[in-house]
Amino acid sequence: MANSAQVDRRDRAIVTLAGIAPDLDGLGAIPELLTRNSPYALHWFSEYHHILGHNLGFGIVVTAASFSLAARRWKTAALAFAAFHLHLLCDVAGARGPDGDQWPIPYLLPFSRAWQWTWHSQWALNAWQNFVITTAALGLTFYLAWSRGFSPLEMASREADVAFVAALQQRFGEPSKRSCIAASCGSGKR
Ligand SMILES: [Zn+2]
Repeated sequence: MANSAQVDRRDRAIVTLAGIAPDLDGLGAIPELLTRNSPYALHWFSEYHHILGHNLGFGIVVTAASFSLAARRWKTAALAFAAFHLHLLCDVAGARGPDGDQWPIPYLLPFSRAWQWTWHSQWALNAWQNFVITTAALGLTFYLAWSRGFSPLEMASREADVAFVAALQQRFGEPSKRSCIAASCGSGKR
């Protein structure tokens, strides 16, 4: 998603972070795990995961934050909004819990509890579909890194990203001029 438009490194990072932002509400797993044997056990993961961050209200907050932080504001905010929703759709499609819980998405929170997203054919989090999708997405990430000259590693370290792309291009050859033009690699968009 972050790689689907011509935006710079910072804006790509914003779109990527917007795509994982809903799972911030899963951080309650840490206090829940640490207090599970205590008489004052906190059930912050059980109670708030898929509630606090997986809804339109939080999506608007994330989109507004993306808008205010981005260089190309409108494009980045639109991609952030789309990435946020792609996350919700993926959860509905393939994130059934080990106990069979569907984790319905209360999409209209905090405005309304009326619309809970579920899908009757939802597959489990560790189902083969997710392995196939993950493998395909990784393949696409490698291809884009090879052809465009950058990868999500750029969020952690520019040097590591340069080394990764160089290793790919050494292994698979330089991308042709044609795919360079289509993907604008080497155009200073890093
Ligand atoms: Zn999620």
